[in-house]
Amino acid sequence: MKRVIAIDGPSGAGKSTVSREVAKSLGFLYLDTGALYRAVAYHFYKNFKNVDDFSLLPEEEIERELIKIKIHYENGRVYLSGEDISDLIRDPEVGAVTSKLSAKKVIRDFLLPLQRSFAEKMDIVAEGRDMTTVVFPDAWKKFYLDASVDVRARRRYEQLIKSGKKITFEEALKDVIERDRRDSSRENAPLVISKEAFYIDTSELTIQEVISLVLKKVAE
Ligand code: C5P
Repeated sequence: MKRVIAIDGPSGAGKSTVSREVAKSLGFLYLDTGALYRAVAYHFYKNFKNVDDFSLLPEEEIERELIKIKIHYENGRVYLSGEDISDLIRDPEVGAVTSKLSAKKVIRDFLLPLQRSFAEKMDIVAEGRDMTTVVFPDAWKKFYLDASVDVRARRRYEQLIKSGKKITFEEALKDVIERDRRDSSRENAPLVISKEAFYIDTSELTIQEVISLVLKKVAE
């Protein structure tokens, strides 16, 4: 295994931007594992139009479907059977399906070898919910990025408004709280703060300050 900088944390903590910039600055590959989960969820979202609640989809049915899924990840872009779906997976509806499906063991097991395979070829910055605990327990450096619920909801709200989505701050807040609840209460790989991870509360910091802090810690 090459060097892995593993970064976990809830949505809106700044993981994506920080991980991308840290990877760029060190010449490492940036691995956005949320994009892999979103790609799987997108397949189900598109092909199971009659399902209202994806948490109720039986694991056996998911398993049969997973055989058809071909994911490719390159340069921060994600492809499903050759189609670049990087922008489509950012839809809040896909995000909600992702949060439900990612609680399924079959899906986590399906993505585990794919995530690990990236670290066989090159040094990576891997960002997600279980990088420091499950996927790369022996990572070279571990971080946990956090921020208050209000700050994360505000960031999410601004990001969605910027991309043209119609959403109120209250909806964004509700969404963040709901996702937190699901990500941390699930049976399979719940989001936890690893004791080995360097904890950063980004609420009062600029993105640049967080990037500098991570780079400083990596250099120690
Ligand atoms: O990071 P992002 O918001 O794109 O992730 C979407 C969803 O995918 C998260 O809400 C979480 O439920 C799931 N996820 C996960 N494990 C990861 C990365 C993402 O369960 N390593």
